[in-house]
Amino acid sequence: MTNNLSNTIHAWCSKNLNEETIRELDHDPARVIKLYRDFTGNGWLESVNIFENPNTFRDLIEIGKILSGYSSAISNVIGVNCVCAMLLTTFGTDSQKEIGRKVLKGDILTCFSLTEPDAGSDIGNLQTTATLEGDHWVLQGKKYLATGAAVADYILVVVRTNPDKPLNKGISLFLVPGNVHGIKLSPQQKIATNSFASCEITFDSVRLPQEMVIGGQDFGWGVITFAGAVERLMVAASCVGLSRRILEYLYEYTQHRMIQGQPLYDIQLINHQLADMAIKIKAADLLLGNAMELLTSGATPTVEICGAKVFASEMQQEISMAAMKIIGGRGYLKEYPVERWMREGLLSLYAGGTNELQKNIIARNMQKDYASKTKERNS
Ligand SMILES: Cc1cc2nc3c(=O)[nH]c(=O)nc-3n(C[C@H](O)[C@H](O)[C@H](O)COP(=O)(O)OP(=O)(O)OC[C@H]3O[C@@H](n4cnc5c(N)ncnc54)[C@H](O)[C@@H]3O)c2cc1C
Repeated sequence: MTNNLSNTIHAWCSKNLNEETIRELDHDPARVIKLYRDFTGNGWLESVNIFENPNTFRDLIEIGKILSGYSSAISNVIGVNCVCAMLLTTFGTDSQKEIGRKVLKGDILTCFSLTEPDAGSDIGNLQTTATLEGDHWVLQGKKYLATGAAVADYILVVVRTNPDKPLNKGISLFLVPGNVHGIKLSPQQKIATNSFASCEITFDSVRLPQEMVIGGQDFGWGVITFAGAVERLMVAASCVGLSRRILEYLYEYTQHRMIQGQPLYDIQLINHQLADMAIKIKAADLLLGNAMELLTSGATPTVEICGAKVFASEMQQEISMAAMKIIGGRGYLKEYPVERWMREGLLSLYAGGTNELQKNIIARNMQKDYASKTKERNS
């Protein structure tokens, strides 16, 4: 992303997302969508397409970092819709690609639904099915924590299309209209960002024409692998952006808060904590940048992507907890932003899969890697 565009987006955020608006956004879904349409109306997301823009991931990550420093509701709505638009423009048919382009213009809203009540980390236990009846698919089952479903025109839903095959050969992604007959959406109360609701979804014999499959029947594994990679990068970006904002706030705060006649910042314990934060934020940003560059080059940097997500989200938790302590009892008050940052930042522990899941993936890859190196050395 050019510095120019980055400055323009910062300027949009400063104009539209002051502290009061950000607080109100927590309870105002209509305003979140209005702001999403205003943001996308500027055309800033239209290049989110890996076939048309070689810098897609770089741009997406920069946008994620900037927005997360202001409002998690806005960064969530943009992140979710960008991931869905990318799936549609990368794997979709011509008419699905067109829907993806409309998402990036703000004309259509989407969301992604993989998780089920009994299939979160244990994705192998996915129960929602689609069965072919004549020329229609019939969807049956229940999803969970689908963020953005309450306002989505289309929900991208992962289901089993071939229960006899292993997951990587028997699931498909469907484009499901949000108002289709047989669907029931129930928003779930969260500790933050309720203006962009996560929903339980029930599919009771939902009938869909065959052309609603994205990326081909039984090809869902490839699609969710790609979605997971992009989502993890976006999560790491949001952690870097939010942590930078917290550090900036703490720097200002500790300059002015006087303790025993001196600014809080002048106490070495405090300024060292801030120095540690700066080092860790830089490290997280470098890990993220490295993973993103590898992905852009066409590699499959699974370990780097999972590692960047783990490091950034754990760093982000550390920083918001340290901020709660550094500003003292004010951290507990709603009139200060730190408690909101702490609540909102917790999402990074789950989004894109928990950190335990990431470490399982990293451990499996290391095992393969070391096994093949050992074999090479011994041959
Ligand atoms: C606010 C929010 C928004 C979300 N939005 C979406 C969305 O838009 N779309 C969507 O599809 N999903 C969404 N999710 C779901 C999210 O991806 C899941 O919460 C996450 O994958 C974890 O699944 P789970 O909640 O079922 O936890 P569980 O799978 O029940 O895990 C419970 C605990 O066990 C640990 N664990 C489980 N298995 C293992 C193992 N093999 N080894 C080590 N530890 C293990 C986990 O790490 C965790 O600590 C959202 C979640 C939240 C909180």
